Amino acid sequence: MKHNPITVSGVEVTPLCDAVGPMGPAIRLPLAEMFPGSGRADDPWVLHFHCYLLRDGAGRLTLVDTGIGGEDSPAASWAPVPGVLTDELAAAGVTPADIDTVILTHLHSDHASGAVADGAPVFENARYVLQRAEVDSAAGVAADRLLTPLKDHLHIVEGQAQVAPGIHVQHTPGHTPGHQIARVGDLAITGDLVLHPVQLADPGVHYVYDDDRETAARTRTEVLAALRAERATIATAHFSEPFIRL
Ligand SMILES: [Zn+2]
Ligand SMILES: [Zn+2]
Repeated sequence: MKHNPITVSGVEVTPLCDAVGPMGPAIRLPLAEMFPGSGRADDPWVLHFHCYLLRDGAGRLTLVDTGIGGEDSPAASWAPVPGVLTDELAAAGVTPADIDTVILTHLHSDHASGAVADGAPVFENARYVLQRAEVDSAAGVAADRLLTPLKDHLHIVEGQAQVAPGIHVQHTPGHTPGHQIARVGDLAITGDLVLHPVQLADPGVHYVYDDDRETAARTRTEVLAALRAERATIATAHFSEPFIRL
């Protein structure tokens, strides 16, 4: 394991580092074009790809996001390397069958592809929590290769919902229509609400691959302000350090 766990409100939160590297040439742009107006030029943008394992006091396991997936994943066309999520889980003493709940922040291929292998759910005993808006807007590869194999295992929610003891999700649209973050105590696991630290300094900075840039910027601004007001810690998908106290 690359990153150390923390404990929040009695829940152990372990960052699982699925991959590290720059985006492949299929979708890579200079950083100043990825985040227009940010003025950043520190290319290449080396992303981490983090999932998070939550272990509550009763030993129940929740996984937030499932990473890039294997060699033939929908993310293979642009991800730096295949994901190593199951190795990271094994290092934490967990097998895929042990996972009770999977929260998918959204259906982009670097967050959801690890949920499916060979057309079947990887976490065979888990229910998969998704926002209604994400399910309803899924199309193409996300629908065919990710959602369809999970269809009998979905736990569809709308807006704020408790999904396990002490763990809830919150709808944060913009990056995708049904993007959600996960909360445990004063920790927020933020998926692609923020992609790069430049958006902590200025949440209005757009990300080129946000589905709806205006909605994403508004959501990011509002949610980060609320999290700052409670002095929350964020657990990010793509920063090099998993945890940042706001
Ligand atoms: Zn990492
Ligand atoms: Zn992402």
